[in-house]
Amino acid sequence: MTRPDAQPAASHFVDGAYVEDTSGDAIPVIYSATGETVATVHAATPEIIDRALDSATRAQTEWARTDPAERGRVLRRAADLLRARNRELSVLETLDTGKPLQETLVADAASGADALEYFGGLAVDVTGTTMRFGDDWAYTIRRPLGVCAGIGAWNYPTQIACWKAAPALATGNAMVFKPSETTPLCALKVAEILVEAGLPAGLFNVIQGAGEVGGRLTTDPRVAKVSLTGSVPTGRKVAAAAAGGMKHVTMELGGKSPILVFEDADIEDAVSGAINGNFYSSGQVCSNGTRVFVQEDVAEAFLDRLRVRLDGVRSGDPLDEATNFGPMTTQAQMEIVLRHLDTARAEGATIFAGGGRMARDGFWIEPTVLTDLTDDMTCVREEIFGPVMSVLTFSTEEEGVARANATEYGLSAGLFTRDLARAHRVAARLEAGTIWINQYNLTPAGMPFGGSKASGIGRENARMAMDHFTEAQSIYVGMGPVEASF
Ligand code: NAD
Repeated sequence: MTRPDAQPAASHFVDGAYVEDTSGDAIPVIYSATGETVATVHAATPEIIDRALDSATRAQTEWARTDPAERGRVLRRAADLLRARNRELSVLETLDTGKPLQETLVADAASGADALEYFGGLAVDVTGTTMRFGDDWAYTIRRPLGVCAGIGAWNYPTQIACWKAAPALATGNAMVFKPSETTPLCALKVAEILVEAGLPAGLFNVIQGAGEVGGRLTTDPRVAKVSLTGSVPTGRKVAAAAAGGMKHVTMELGGKSPILVFEDADIEDAVSGAINGNFYSSGQVCSNGTRVFVQEDVAEAFLDRLRVRLDGVRSGDPLDEATNFGPMTTQAQMEIVLRHLDTARAEGATIFAGGGRMARDGFWIEPTVLTDLTDDMTCVREEIFGPVMSVLTFSTEEEGVARANATEYGLSAGLFTRDLARAHRVAARLEAGTIWINQYNLTPAGMPFGGSKASGIGRENARMAMDHFTEAQSIYVGMGPVEASF
């Protein structure tokens, strides 16, 4: 497929229009399948950040007063536009991230559209409660927070922008969104489409830049809330900075999630779950189940089937729809993964499959499976964020659950078993925000998603996300008379 032009009309989208300011640092957009630069944007200068925040502040007051039904209609029209342009947006997502078109056609604009549609529908259903105190009573209303900052990671640039924009806008907030500096393109399209769908100017702004621009948003007094998707170290910094201004936060951070495969599991499904939870998007998924604990009696059968299934990997031109495995999104991430593989070897891991860089241009790592591991090895403890599956064995349910929980992270977990009682018993004992039983990594818009322990605070998606973009206001109604002491 010929590669379309990825250069956006301008670097930023502020107050309803593309805006350029080339005095900010140049940020090359590198197509990770080849290493070529396919576009260049510029980091936001303090003036651009100011314009974005000012326009958001202005627009939000009016938007908060807009009939929620109208807010919902705008979001649902945007969902329709995303779906109508799915192919074009998927190609852009592939150029931005390197993920294969086979994936982006179903996972990115599609998931963004689902969120816009879902929250568009719910916009009319933001409700409060009433309380009686004798003849007096009180009620609560949920008020929007104001201007929210969204800060994105580089693995799902369209989805992350939509998952943050949709609940924020549905509940009457404005957003200034800063995509990751390595994947700056897709969020601009989301902004353009929202305006085309009827979103008033200023309500969803996109400004480019690295951590410094994110830091300015986090500390600006005009910002009421920061919603970050990123790593745990960044989350710690951003949450601490936001605390200085007593801002609300949602932190969607990293993980080292476990998958437990019990001896009575459907092994083919378990292998499929482990493949989806380690090699989809070349392993660059926060919720990946990178510690696969297989009960001893079925470990050999699991690994045998895994080896056969790895023959199905098709790496190559990500724009070719037959390709099902792409590169790392950045050279830096490829180098991190390669260093992890060196460490794993040095610490005594066996490379069951893959184990190195692919011999071609771009940032390609083979799908890798590590065995002969202990829980204290670096590859079993740390998030690698690449196509590296660690397979360990366990003997009893008790032991499996204890080892699965023995991590500072708590984003997700999976378990495969045909025993209904065990499935729910184990799910209840796993310390993670999302548990998949006999499935892995599916995140429908109607299900809350987020981390426990170091993996985050708050939830995205589902009705719950609307609570995180609003706050309760209590209104006490005195029915009289008013008593006073004198
Ligand atoms: P990162 O933490 O390096 O960067 C995330 C974002 O934060 C970027 O936009 C970056 O510019 C910005 N940033 C960096 N320093 C900042 C600062 N001091 N103040 C404000 N903003 C700052 O993460 P990444 O490498 O882009 O993404 C990979 C990480 O994201 C992985 O750990 C992955 O698990 C996690 N992730 C989590 C989820 C989730 O929903 N839980 C989803 C995707 C990715």
